Amino acid sequence: MVQTRSLIDENGKRTDGRVIDELRDVKIGVGIIKNADGSAFIEFGKNKIIVAVYGPREVHPKHMALTDKCVLRCRYHMSPFSTDTRKNPAPSRREVEISKVIREALEPAIILEDYPRAAIDVFIEVLEADGGSRCAGIDAASVALADAGINMRDMVSACAAGKVDDKIVLDINDTEDKEGGADMPIAYLPNLNQISLLQLDGILDSTQFNSCIDNAIKGCLKIYEIQRTALMQKYFGNEKEMELKEE
Ligand code: ADP
Repeated sequence: MVQTRSLIDENGKRTDGRVIDELRDVKIGVGIIKNADGSAFIEFGKNKIIVAVYGPREVHPKHMALTDKCVLRCRYHMSPFSTDTRKNPAPSRREVEISKVIREALEPAIILEDYPRAAIDVFIEVLEADGGSRCAGIDAASVALADAGINMRDMVSACAAGKVDDKIVLDINDTEDKEGGADMPIAYLPNLNQISLLQLDGILDSTQFNSCIDNAIKGCLKIYEIQRTALMQKYFGNEKEMELKEE
């Protein structure tokens, strides 16, 4: 990634009007698919993603079952209308890779040993993509897993940081992803203080690398509050949400 034009103006504003440490607007809805055991919808800036969780349920084909723990299966898919140009609906190499890293990001949070010989399926469907869709997908998947009543050690909150105009910025958008200097998506288990996903596209020196991690974790903590509020709102209504805000 080599940046060819400036993406931060003289007032410190980015291409979408945010300042460098500002997250895009994030909204999460819980339990929107009645067929699923758990589900969530996330709007992360212009990203729109729906997640459905099924399970724990019987594994098919049976030989894939594990005797000591549950099999977690994730499918990340971008709909043909989710990008500017029509995207081929067949799974691309990118989607296969993102499905794998999302599974690995979620696995440490799930108590898989509680469901031996079973499977949990997580379907992540991107309806509109605007950069950072894997992070937004993880955020919604974690909420959908909790909504499905799956035993979990922690939530998984994900957010990217990156380098634009040689500055470390929070939550890279599509333009910054394509034209900026670096993109580092991170998934974080806020209560266990563990990172379960760290990818880097671009070049950073060690100071920038550490600063990206610190910034991304700050973003993840903000996302965590939004995830918590969304779950509380579904299960306890607005009253509990007000109590949480007052704390
Ligand atoms: P992420 O969405 O997690 O940042 P990438 O960095 O691979 O993943 O992609 C960045 C953005 O590029 C996506 O959010 C999407 O807006 C765009 N994009 C990805 N794949 C395609 C595609 N096949 N066609 C058009 N745009 C795409």
